[in-house]
Amino acid sequence: MEFGALEAGGTKMVCAIGKEDGTILDQTSIPTTVPEETIPKIIEYFRDKEIAALGVASFGPVDPDPTSATYGYITSTPKPGWTHYDLLGNLKAALPVPMGFDTDVNGSLLGEVTYGSSKGVTDAVYITVGTGIGMGIMSGGKLIHGMLHPEAGHYMMIRHPKDTFEGRCPFHKNCLEGMASGPAIGDRWEKPAKELADNDEVWEIEAYYLAQACMNLILTLSPKKIILGGGVMHQMKLFELIRQKVTENLNGYLQTRELSHMDRYIVPASLNDDQGIMGCIKLAVDALEPAEV
Ligand code: ADP
Ligand code: ZN
Repeated sequence: MEFGALEAGGTKMVCAIGKEDGTILDQTSIPTTVPEETIPKIIEYFRDKEIAALGVASFGPVDPDPTSATYGYITSTPKPGWTHYDLLGNLKAALPVPMGFDTDVNGSLLGEVTYGSSKGVTDAVYITVGTGIGMGIMSGGKLIHGMLHPEAGHYMMIRHPKDTFEGRCPFHKNCLEGMASGPAIGDRWEKPAKELADNDEVWEIEAYYLAQACMNLILTLSPKKIILGGGVMHQMKLFELIRQKVTENLNGYLQTRELSHMDRYIVPASLNDDQGIMGCIKLAVDALEPAEV
């Protein structure tokens, strides 16, 4: 049986066909321009494929509540053309298969706990550190939504003592995304993050903010695993810095088996940047066989 997967990003739409075991059989990428142009191309890709179900993980904010009138919409995004756009409804109108829908970051988390090195973990957080910062959360085996969905990428930050950058989030200035996204690093140092690999101070400050976020997550959700992915996390040295700072921040307050093996607790995404699209395959599988509640 084959499943359709759509990872809907603000820059590109990744469409794929895969199997339940996570194997990707075919994959293509469509630029995200305006819905009138982008959506027909997505439909055209899936229309002649024999898919049993489609899993969609989207940039947001989105409405992930199946009981809501705007379920499956991209809601308050500033991206032109996509504000209050009925993504799932438009796909359903053209493709008559069961569909699963969630946030892009919950999709990546689902990919990691289904197919990645965190396979089988029921309580985990996925943090993507890229153009923005997003978090997917699973608790007790369920992806968390609540009122909307977690937006922990906007945790407010205590400023690093040496950091004078005011922060670039248009809503909160010095929230996590405002201080630690790829573009925030670029603005602070007036150079793209990728070109700053050899400047230790850059990563010291970056890890300082990401460790604060991890500390808050640990105290709130008690996750068994924190997975970090996204472009900025390609700087692998960040992992050890974050682990050290989280241990320092916790200051012995919590003592668990997981926290005593920080190298296995705070980990990189493990699926070569396919965690998102593989998570969409799992969303499709689950749409066909809804999990028992
Ligand atoms: P997006 O968030 O748009 O889906 P990415 O996760 O690739 O895409 O994140 C893009 C951001 O990550 C950019 O701001 C870029 O500066 C940063 N980035 C990409 N590669 C690297 C790298 N090797 N080192 C540090 N930062 C990087
Ligand atoms: Zn913010």
